[in-house]
Amino acid sequence: MLTRLKLYDTKSRQSIEVKDRDGLVHIYCCGPTVYRPAHIGNLRTFLLADLIRKTLELTGLRVKLVQNITDVGHMSEDVNQEDKVLSQSAREKIDPLTLARKYEQLFHEDLALLNIAKAERYPRASESILLMHEIIQALLEKNHAYIGNDGCVYFDAKSSVGYGQLSGNRLDALKPGHRYEYTEDGAKRFHADWALWKLASNRTEMIWESPWGLGFPGWHIECTAMSLEYLDEKIDVHVGGIDLRFPHHENERAQTHAITGVETINLWSHGEHLLFEGRKMSKSANNVLLLEDVVARGVDPLSIRLVLLENRYRTQMNLTWDAILSAHATLKRWRSVVGPFNAIAVPDNDEVLAALTSDLDTPHVISILRRAEKDPTLTQLQRAELFLYADKVLGLGLEREEVLKPLTEHLAQLLNQRQIARNEKNWKESDRLREILENSGLIIKDSAITQEWQWR
Ligand code: AMP
Ligand code: ZN
Repeated sequence: MLTRLKLYDTKSRQSIEVKDRDGLVHIYCCGPTVYRPAHIGNLRTFLLADLIRKTLELTGLRVKLVQNITDVGHMSEDVNQEDKVLSQSAREKIDPLTLARKYEQLFHEDLALLNIAKAERYPRASESILLMHEIIQALLEKNHAYIGNDGCVYFDAKSSVGYGQLSGNRLDALKPGHRYEYTEDGAKRFHADWALWKLASNRTEMIWESPWGLGFPGWHIECTAMSLEYLDEKIDVHVGGIDLRFPHHENERAQTHAITGVETINLWSHGEHLLFEGRKMSKSANNVLLLEDVVARGVDPLSIRLVLLENRYRTQMNLTWDAILSAHATLKRWRSVVGPFNAIAVPDNDEVLAALTSDLDTPHVISILRRAEKDPTLTQLQRAELFLYADKVLGLGLEREEVLKPLTEHLAQLLNQRQIARNEKNWKESDRLREILENSGLIIKDSAITQEWQWR
Protein backbone atom coordinates (compact mmCIF):
# COMPACT_ATOMS: atom_id res chain seq x y z
CA MET A 1 0.00 0.00 0.00
CA LEU A 2 1.14 3.52 -0.79
CA THR A 3 2.58 5.43 2.16
CA ARG A 4 1.24 8.98 1.88
CA LEU A 5 3.02 12.21 2.62
CA LYS A 6 1.36 14.19 5.39
CA LEU A 7 2.18 17.87 5.28
CA TYR A 8 1.26 20.75 7.56
CA ASP A 9 -1.40 22.92 5.92
CA THR A 10 -1.34 26.56 6.98
CA LYS A 11 -5.03 27.06 6.22
CA SER A 12 -6.50 24.18 8.23
CA ARG A 13 -3.64 24.38 10.76
CA GLN A 14 -3.04 20.64 10.74
CA SER A 15 -1.08 18.00 8.86
CA ILE A 16 -3.07 16.55 6.02
CA GLU A 17 -2.38 13.97 3.34
CA VAL A 18 -1.21 15.26 0.00
CA LYS A 19 -3.69 14.08 -2.61
CA ASP A 20 -2.73 12.93 -6.08
CA ARG A 21 -4.73 12.71 -9.30
CA ASP A 22 -4.03 9.42 -11.03
CA GLY A 23 -0.60 9.32 -9.47
CA LEU A 24 0.29 12.93 -10.30
CA VAL A 25 0.68 15.84 -7.85
CA HIS A 26 0.73 19.49 -8.97
CA ILE A 27 2.94 21.85 -6.96
CA TYR A 28 3.32 25.61 -7.33
CA CYS A 29 6.18 27.37 -5.56
CA CYS A 30 6.54 31.15 -5.49
CA GLY A 31 9.83 31.85 -7.18
CA PRO A 32 12.51 34.48 -6.76
CA THR A 33 12.22 38.19 -7.37
CA VAL A 34 15.18 38.51 -9.69
CA TYR A 35 16.77 41.82 -8.67
CA ARG A 36 19.62 40.32 -6.65
CA PRO A 37 21.16 36.88 -6.04
CA ALA A 38 18.95 34.54 -4.00
CA HIS A 39 20.30 34.30 -0.44
CA ILE A 40 20.40 31.15 1.62
CA GLY A 41 17.10 32.08 3.28
CA ASN A 42 15.37 32.15 -0.11
CA LEU A 43 17.07 28.89 -1.00
CA ARG A 44 15.72 27.29 2.19
CA THR A 45 12.22 27.95 0.87
CA PHE A 46 13.03 26.63 -2.61
CA LEU A 47 14.52 23.55 -0.96
CA LEU A 48 11.18 22.95 0.77
CA ALA A 49 9.49 22.47 -2.61
CA ASP A 50 12.27 20.03 -3.57
CA LEU A 51 11.81 18.01 -0.36
CA ILE A 52 8.07 17.76 -0.92
CA ARG A 53 8.66 16.71 -4.50
CA LYS A 54 11.31 14.12 -3.74
CA THR A 55 9.33 12.64 -0.85
CA LEU A 56 6.26 12.30 -3.06
CA GLU A 57 8.42 10.61 -5.68
CA LEU A 58 9.82 8.29 -3.04
CA THR A 59 6.25 7.21 -2.29
CA GLY A 60 5.77 6.34 -5.95
CA LEU A 61 3.94 9.44 -7.17
CA ARG A 62 4.82 11.74 -10.06
CA VAL A 63 5.13 15.49 -9.57
CA LYS A 64 4.62 18.48 -11.81
CA LEU A 65 6.27 21.51 -10.25
CA VAL A 66 5.92 25.05 -11.56
CA GLN A 67 7.90 27.94 -10.12
CA ASN A 68 7.47 31.47 -11.37
CA ILE A 69 10.09 34.13 -11.92
CA THR A 70 9.01 37.54 -10.60
CA ASP A 71 10.67 40.07 -12.87
CA VAL A 72 8.07 42.84 -12.60
CA GLY A 73 5.47 44.11 -10.13
CA HIS A 74 7.08 43.22 -6.78
CA MET A 75 7.21 46.55 -4.98
CA SER A 76 9.49 47.44 -2.10
CA GLU A 77 7.79 47.60 1.29
CA ASP A 78 9.03 51.09 2.12
CA VAL A 79 7.03 54.28 1.57
CA ASN A 80 8.41 54.75 -1.94
CA GLN A 81 6.90 51.47 -3.16
CA GLU A 82 9.29 51.09 -6.04
CA ASP A 83 9.43 48.09 -8.31
CA LYS A 84 12.36 46.08 -6.95
CA VAL A 85 13.69 45.16 -10.41
CA LEU A 86 13.41 48.71 -11.74
CA SER A 87 15.13 50.40 -8.84
CA GLN A 88 18.00 47.91 -8.89
CA SER A 89 18.37 48.34 -12.66
CA ALA A 90 18.78 52.08 -12.09
CA ARG A 91 21.42 51.33 -9.45
CA GLU A 92 23.36 48.92 -11.66
CA LYS A 93 22.78 51.04 -14.76
CA ILE A 94 21.56 48.17 -16.90
CA ASP A 95 18.17 47.72 -18.44
CA PRO A 96 15.65 45.92 -16.23
CA LEU A 97 15.20 42.79 -18.33
CA THR A 98 18.96 42.25 -18.69
CA LEU A 99 19.26 42.62 -14.93
CA ALA A 100 16.41 40.19 -14.35
CA ARG A 101 17.86 37.59 -16.69
CA LYS A 102 21.26 37.85 -15.01
CA TYR A 103 19.81 37.04 -11.58
CA GLU A 104 17.50 34.41 -13.01
CA GLN A 105 20.56 32.63 -14.41
CA LEU A 106 22.27 32.82 -11.02
CA PHE A 107 19.15 31.39 -9.38
CA HIS A 108 19.35 28.34 -11.67
CA GLU A 109 23.06 27.93 -10.92
CA ASP A 110 22.32 28.01 -7.17
CA LEU A 111 19.57 25.43 -7.48
CA ALA A 112 21.93 23.11 -9.35
CA LEU A 113 24.62 23.51 -6.66
CA LEU A 114 22.05 22.60 -4.01
CA ASN A 115 20.87 19.55 -5.95
CA ILE A 116 17.37 20.98 -6.28
CA ALA A 117 15.65 19.20 -9.17
CA LYS A 118 14.40 21.36 -12.01
CA ALA A 119 10.79 22.43 -12.14
CA GLU A 120 8.78 21.50 -15.20
CA ARG A 121 8.46 25.19 -16.00
CA TYR A 122 9.69 28.58 -14.83
CA PRO A 123 7.19 31.08 -16.30
CA ARG A 124 8.23 34.73 -16.16
CA ALA A 125 5.77 37.37 -15.00
CA SER A 126 6.85 39.73 -17.79
CA GLU A 127 5.94 37.07 -20.34
CA SER A 128 2.56 36.29 -18.78
CA ILE A 129 0.98 39.73 -19.17
CA LEU A 130 -1.78 38.59 -21.53
CA LEU A 131 -2.70 35.79 -19.15
CA MET A 132 -3.07 38.37 -16.41
CA HIS A 133 -5.23 40.56 -18.63
CA GLU A 134 -7.60 37.63 -19.16
CA ILE A 135 -7.81 36.94 -15.44
CA ILE A 136 -8.33 40.59 -14.55
CA GLN A 137 -11.03 40.89 -17.22
CA ALA A 138 -12.78 37.84 -15.78
CA LEU A 139 -12.58 39.28 -12.25
CA LEU A 140 -14.14 42.53 -13.49
CA GLU A 141 -16.95 40.61 -15.19
CA LYS A 142 -17.61 38.62 -12.02
CA ASN A 143 -17.70 41.84 -9.97
CA HIS A 144 -14.70 40.83 -7.91
CA ALA A 145 -12.73 43.75 -9.32
CA TYR A 146 -13.41 47.38 -10.17
CA ILE A 147 -11.71 50.38 -11.70
CA GLY A 148 -10.67 52.83 -9.01
CA ASN A 149 -10.83 56.62 -9.12
CA ASP A 150 -7.24 56.67 -10.34
CA GLY A 151 -7.96 54.35 -13.31
CA CYS A 152 -6.12 51.38 -11.78
CA VAL A 153 -7.92 48.04 -11.43
CA TYR A 154 -8.45 46.79 -7.87
CA PHE A 155 -9.62 43.56 -6.33
CA ASP A 156 -12.66 44.00 -4.12
CA ALA A 157 -11.53 42.29 -0.92
CA LYS A 158 -15.03 42.29 0.59
CA SER A 159 -16.32 40.22 -2.35
CA SER A 160 -14.05 37.35 -1.39
CA VAL A 161 -15.47 34.30 0.37
CA GLY A 162 -13.55 33.46 3.50
CA TYR A 163 -10.94 36.18 3.16
CA GLY A 164 -8.50 35.84 6.02
CA GLN A 165 -8.81 32.09 6.54
CA LEU A 166 -5.23 31.51 5.51
CA SER A 167 -3.50 34.15 7.58
CA GLY A 168 -6.05 34.79 10.31
CA ASN A 169 -6.27 38.47 9.31
CA ARG A 170 -9.96 39.28 9.23
CA LEU A 171 -10.94 42.14 6.93
CA ASP A 172 -12.72 44.10 9.63
CA ALA A 173 -9.59 43.99 11.76
CA LEU A 174 -7.24 45.31 9.06
CA LYS A 175 -6.41 48.91 9.73
CA PRO A 176 -6.01 51.49 6.97
CA GLY A 177 -2.50 52.72 6.31
CA HIS A 178 -0.80 49.52 7.41
CA ARG A 179 1.98 48.60 5.03
CA TYR A 180 0.23 45.44 3.81
CA GLU A 181 -1.08 47.15 0.70
CA TYR A 182 -0.69 50.25 -1.36
CA THR A 183 -2.44 53.18 0.19
CA GLU A 184 -3.46 55.34 -2.77
CA ASP A 185 -5.62 58.06 -1.29
CA GLY A 186 -9.26 57.72 -2.18
CA ALA A 187 -8.65 55.59 -5.26
CA LYS A 188 -9.90 52.37 -3.71
CA ARG A 189 -13.30 51.59 -2.27
CA PHE A 190 -11.82 49.90 0.77
CA HIS A 191 -8.36 50.18 2.24
CA ALA A 192 -7.63 46.43 2.09
CA ASP A 193 -8.36 46.20 -1.66
CA TRP A 194 -5.26 45.69 -3.76
CA ALA A 195 -4.16 46.63 -7.24
CA LEU A 196 -4.39 44.10 -10.07
CA TRP A 197 -3.32 46.49 -12.81
CA LYS A 198 -1.57 49.76 -12.15
CA LEU A 199 -1.41 52.62 -14.60
CA ALA A 200 2.05 53.66 -15.68
CA SER A 201 1.78 57.26 -14.45
CA ASN A 202 5.34 58.54 -14.88
CA ARG A 203 6.91 55.10 -15.13
CA THR A 204 8.49 54.52 -18.55
CA GLU A 205 9.96 51.00 -18.40
CA MET A 206 8.40 47.56 -17.88
CA ILE A 207 4.95 48.79 -18.89
CA TRP A 208 2.44 47.21 -21.26
CA GLU A 209 -0.69 48.21 -23.14
CA SER A 210 -3.88 46.86 -21.59
CA PRO A 211 -7.63 47.34 -21.89
CA TRP A 212 -7.33 49.74 -18.92
CA GLY A 213 -4.37 51.72 -20.23
CA LEU A 214 -0.60 51.52 -20.28
CA GLY A 215 0.64 50.00 -17.04
CA PHE A 216 1.96 46.99 -15.16
CA PRO A 217 0.55 44.14 -13.07
CA GLY A 218 0.31 43.82 -9.29
CA TRP A 219 2.44 41.11 -7.73
CA HIS A 220 -0.37 38.90 -6.36
CA ILE A 221 -2.21 38.52 -9.67
CA GLU A 222 0.96 37.15 -11.29
CA CYS A 223 0.91 34.00 -9.21
CA THR A 224 -2.82 33.44 -9.70
CA ALA A 225 -2.43 33.75 -13.47
CA MET A 226 0.66 31.56 -13.79
CA SER A 227 -0.45 28.84 -11.36
CA LEU A 228 -3.88 28.47 -12.96
CA GLU A 229 -2.50 28.42 -16.48
CA TYR A 230 0.47 26.11 -16.08
CA LEU A 231 -1.13 23.70 -13.62
CA ASP A 232 -4.50 23.48 -15.41
CA GLU A 233 -6.42 24.99 -12.49
CA LYS A 234 -5.33 22.11 -10.24
CA ILE A 235 -2.97 23.09 -7.44
CA ASP A 236 -2.42 20.34 -4.91
CA VAL A 237 0.34 22.02 -2.91
CA HIS A 238 1.29 25.69 -2.89
CA VAL A 239 4.70 26.47 -1.39
CA GLY A 240 6.38 29.65 -0.16
CA GLY A 241 8.15 31.31 2.74
CA ILE A 242 6.05 32.15 5.80
CA ASP A 243 6.29 35.90 5.12
CA LEU A 244 4.24 35.34 1.94
CA ARG A 245 1.26 34.02 3.89
CA PHE A 246 -0.02 37.56 4.13
CA PRO A 247 -0.82 39.52 2.07
CA HIS A 248 0.61 37.68 -0.98
CA HIS A 249 -0.99 34.28 -0.47
CA GLU A 250 -4.15 35.52 1.21
CA ASN A 251 -4.77 37.72 -1.82
CA GLU A 252 -3.74 35.05 -4.28
CA ARG A 253 -6.22 32.65 -2.70
CA ALA A 254 -9.00 35.24 -2.92
CA GLN A 255 -8.30 35.87 -6.63
CA THR A 256 -7.90 32.22 -7.57
CA HIS A 257 -11.03 31.24 -5.71
CA ALA A 258 -12.96 34.11 -7.32
CA ILE A 259 -11.95 32.86 -10.80
CA THR A 260 -12.65 29.15 -10.40
CA GLY A 261 -15.51 29.41 -7.89
CA VAL A 262 -13.99 26.63 -5.78
CA GLU A 263 -11.18 26.17 -3.30
CA THR A 264 -8.55 25.41 -5.93
CA ILE A 265 -5.44 25.26 -3.75
CA ASN A 266 -5.67 22.12 -1.66
CA LEU A 267 -2.75 22.63 0.70
CA TRP A 268 -0.64 25.64 1.69
CA SER A 269 2.87 24.76 2.80
CA HIS A 270 5.02 27.50 4.33
CA GLY A 271 8.64 27.29 5.35
CA GLU A 272 9.90 29.22 8.36
CA HIS A 273 12.59 31.83 8.15
CA LEU A 274 16.27 31.34 8.15
CA LEU A 275 18.08 33.60 10.59
CA PHE A 276 21.70 34.57 10.36
CA GLU A 277 23.42 36.12 13.34
CA GLY A 278 20.07 36.01 15.11
CA ARG A 279 17.99 38.01 12.61
CA LYS A 280 15.90 37.05 9.59
CA MET A 281 18.25 36.85 6.65
CA SER A 282 17.31 39.65 4.29
CA LYS A 283 18.85 42.30 2.13
CA SER A 284 17.36 45.03 4.30
CA ALA A 285 18.84 43.53 7.49
CA ASN A 286 22.18 43.46 5.69
CA ASN A 287 22.99 39.93 6.87
CA VAL A 288 22.80 38.08 3.61
CA LEU A 289 24.85 34.95 2.98
CA LEU A 290 25.05 33.70 -0.59
CA LEU A 291 25.86 30.24 -1.80
CA GLU A 292 28.80 31.69 -3.68
CA ASP A 293 30.25 32.95 -0.36
CA VAL A 294 30.18 29.37 0.86
CA VAL A 295 31.72 27.99 -2.34
CA ALA A 296 34.38 30.69 -2.26
CA ARG A 297 35.50 29.33 1.11
CA GLY A 298 35.96 25.91 -0.45
CA VAL A 299 33.03 24.46 1.43
CA ASP A 300 30.92 21.95 -0.48
CA PRO A 301 27.61 23.73 -1.25
CA LEU A 302 25.75 20.57 -0.26
CA SER A 303 26.93 21.27 3.30
CA ILE A 304 24.34 24.04 3.20
CA ARG A 305 21.70 21.54 2.15
CA LEU A 306 22.70 19.33 5.07
CA VAL A 307 22.65 22.19 7.60
CA LEU A 308 19.18 23.19 6.43
CA LEU A 309 17.93 19.62 6.66
CA GLU A 310 19.22 19.31 10.20
CA ASN A 311 16.41 21.67 11.14
CA ARG A 312 12.71 21.03 10.61
CA TYR A 313 11.44 23.28 7.82
CA ARG A 314 8.74 24.68 10.10
CA THR A 315 11.12 25.98 12.75
CA GLN A 316 13.10 29.16 12.55
CA MET A 317 16.76 28.28 12.39
CA ASN A 318 19.88 30.25 13.00
CA LEU A 319 22.69 29.57 10.56
CA THR A 320 26.29 29.71 11.75
CA TRP A 321 29.63 29.10 10.07
CA ASP A 322 30.43 26.48 12.72
CA ALA A 323 27.38 24.47 11.69
CA ILE A 324 28.30 24.81 7.99
CA LEU A 325 31.86 23.61 8.54
CA SER A 326 30.76 20.73 10.69
CA ALA A 327 28.25 19.69 7.99
CA HIS A 328 31.12 19.74 5.51
CA ALA A 329 33.00 17.26 7.69
CA THR A 330 29.88 15.08 8.06
CA LEU A 331 29.40 14.96 4.28
CA LYS A 332 32.94 13.77 3.86
CA ARG A 333 32.43 10.94 6.36
CA TRP A 334 29.10 9.91 4.87
CA ARG A 335 30.49 9.78 1.37
CA SER A 336 33.15 7.40 2.59
CA VAL A 337 30.42 5.19 4.07
CA VAL A 338 28.75 4.92 0.67
CA GLY A 339 32.07 4.89 -1.18
CA PRO A 340 32.47 1.53 -2.90
CA PHE A 341 28.75 0.71 -2.96
CA ASN A 342 27.43 3.61 -4.98
CA ALA A 343 26.00 1.58 -7.85
CA ILE A 344 23.91 -0.87 -5.81
CA ALA A 345 20.13 -1.38 -5.97
CA VAL A 346 18.66 0.03 -2.79
CA PRO A 347 15.78 -1.51 -0.79
CA ASP A 348 13.21 0.72 0.94
CA ASN A 349 13.77 1.65 4.54
CA ASP A 350 10.53 1.95 6.49
CA GLU A 351 11.94 4.08 9.29
CA VAL A 352 13.31 6.69 6.88
CA LEU A 353 10.13 6.66 4.81
CA ALA A 354 7.98 7.10 7.94
CA ALA A 355 10.04 10.10 9.08
CA LEU A 356 9.93 11.80 5.70
CA THR A 357 6.22 11.26 5.20
CA SER A 358 5.49 12.68 8.70
CA ASP A 359 5.66 16.28 7.60
CA LEU A 360 9.24 16.00 6.30
CA ASP A 361 11.01 15.11 9.53
CA THR A 362 14.50 15.44 8.08
CA PRO A 363 16.22 15.92 11.48
CA HIS A 364 14.93 12.48 12.42
CA VAL A 365 16.28 10.96 9.19
CA ILE A 366 19.65 12.50 9.92
CA SER A 367 19.62 11.06 13.43
CA ILE A 368 18.88 7.63 11.93
CA LEU A 369 21.97 7.97 9.75
CA ARG A 370 24.13 9.13 12.65
CA ARG A 371 22.98 6.17 14.71
CA ALA A 372 23.70 3.76 11.85
CA GLU A 373 27.22 5.12 11.52
CA LYS A 374 27.98 3.90 15.02
CA ASP A 375 25.92 0.72 15.02
CA PRO A 376 28.38 -2.21 15.12
CA THR A 377 25.72 -4.74 14.14
CA LEU A 378 25.34 -3.27 10.64
CA THR A 379 27.51 -4.38 7.75
CA GLN A 380 29.14 -1.81 5.47
CA LEU A 381 26.70 -2.78 2.76
CA GLN A 382 23.65 -2.31 5.01
CA ARG A 383 24.89 1.11 6.02
CA ALA A 384 25.45 2.11 2.41
CA GLU A 385 21.95 0.92 1.47
CA LEU A 386 20.39 2.99 4.23
CA PHE A 387 22.37 6.10 3.30
CA LEU A 388 21.59 5.81 -0.39
CA TYR A 389 17.89 5.32 0.26
CA ALA A 390 17.71 8.41 2.51
CA ASP A 391 19.73 10.36 -0.03
CA LYS A 392 16.98 10.03 -2.62
CA VAL A 393 15.33 12.82 -0.66
CA LEU A 394 18.17 14.33 1.35
CA GLY A 395 19.97 14.89 -1.96
CA LEU A 396 23.44 15.21 -0.45
CA GLY A 397 25.24 13.55 -3.32
CA LEU A 398 26.44 10.78 -1.00
CA GLU A 399 27.45 8.65 -3.98
CA ARG A 400 29.99 11.29 -4.93
CA GLU A 401 33.56 10.45 -4.22
CA GLU A 402 35.04 13.86 -4.07
CA VAL A 403 34.75 16.21 -1.16
CA LEU A 404 36.39 19.54 -1.73
CA LYS A 405 39.47 20.26 0.27
CA PRO A 406 38.70 23.64 1.85
CA LEU A 407 40.69 26.58 0.56
CA THR A 408 43.37 28.24 2.55
CA GLU A 409 42.51 31.72 3.77
CA HIS A 410 45.10 33.12 1.35
CA LEU A 411 43.62 31.46 -1.75
CA ALA A 412 40.10 32.47 -0.67
CA GLN A 413 41.27 36.07 -0.53
CA LEU A 414 42.86 35.86 -3.96
CA LEU A 415 39.66 34.43 -5.43
CA ASN A 416 37.72 37.21 -3.81
CA GLN A 417 40.09 39.86 -5.21
CA ARG A 418 39.76 38.29 -8.65
CA GLN A 419 35.96 38.44 -8.43
CA ILE A 420 36.20 42.12 -7.56
CA ALA A 421 38.58 42.71 -10.49
CA ARG A 422 36.16 40.94 -12.82
CA ASN A 423 33.22 42.97 -11.52
CA GLU A 424 35.24 46.09 -12.29
CA LYS A 425 36.16 44.68 -15.71
CA ASN A 426 39.83 44.93 -14.75
CA TRP A 427 40.89 42.04 -17.00
CA LYS A 428 44.61 42.54 -16.55
CA GLU A 429 44.39 42.12 -12.80
CA SER A 430 41.99 39.22 -13.15
CA ASP A 431 44.44 37.42 -15.49
CA ARG A 432 47.32 38.06 -13.12
CA LEU A 433 45.36 36.56 -10.21
CA ARG A 434 44.24 33.63 -12.35
CA GLU A 435 47.87 32.73 -13.00
CA ILE A 436 48.73 32.77 -9.30
CA LEU A 437 45.66 30.68 -8.44
CA GLU A 438 46.42 28.15 -11.16
CA ASN A 439 50.02 27.87 -10.04
CA SER A 440 48.68 27.08 -6.57
CA GLY A 441 46.81 24.04 -7.87
CA LEU A 442 43.37 25.37 -8.77
CA ILE A 443 41.44 25.12 -12.01
CA ILE A 444 39.39 28.25 -12.69
CA LYS A 445 36.30 28.30 -14.86
CA ASP A 446 34.63 31.63 -15.63
CA SER A 447 30.94 32.04 -16.34
CA ALA A 448 29.38 35.35 -17.38
CA ILE A 449 29.20 36.60 -13.80
CA THR A 450 30.85 34.19 -11.42
CA GLN A 451 34.06 32.22 -11.33
CA GLU A 452 34.11 28.58 -10.36
CA TRP A 453 37.12 26.69 -9.18
CA GLN A 454 38.21 23.21 -8.25
CA TRP A 455 41.37 21.55 -7.13
CA ARG A 456 43.41 20.14 -9.95
P1 AMP B 1 11.78 36.88 -2.99
O1 AMP B 1 12.92 36.60 -3.93
O2 AMP B 1 12.04 38.04 -2.08
O3 AMP B 1 10.48 37.02 -3.75
O4 AMP B 1 11.63 35.62 -2.02
C1 AMP B 1 11.65 34.30 -2.48
C2 AMP B 1 11.22 33.35 -1.39
O5 AMP B 1 12.13 33.37 -0.28
C3 AMP B 1 9.84 33.64 -0.79
O6 AMP B 1 9.12 32.42 -0.69
C4 AMP B 1 10.16 34.20 0.59
O7 AMP B 1 9.13 33.94 1.51
C5 AMP B 1 11.40 33.42 0.96
N1 AMP B 1 12.28 34.05 1.97
C6 AMP B 1 12.69 35.34 2.05
N2 AMP B 1 13.52 35.53 3.12
C7 AMP B 1 13.64 34.32 3.73
C8 AMP B 1 14.37 33.84 4.88
N3 AMP B 1 15.17 34.63 5.60
N4 AMP B 1 14.23 32.53 5.21
C9 AMP B 1 13.45 31.69 4.47
N5 AMP B 1 12.75 32.08 3.37
C10 AMP B 1 12.84 33.37 3.00
ZN1 ZN C 1 3.69 34.07 -5.49
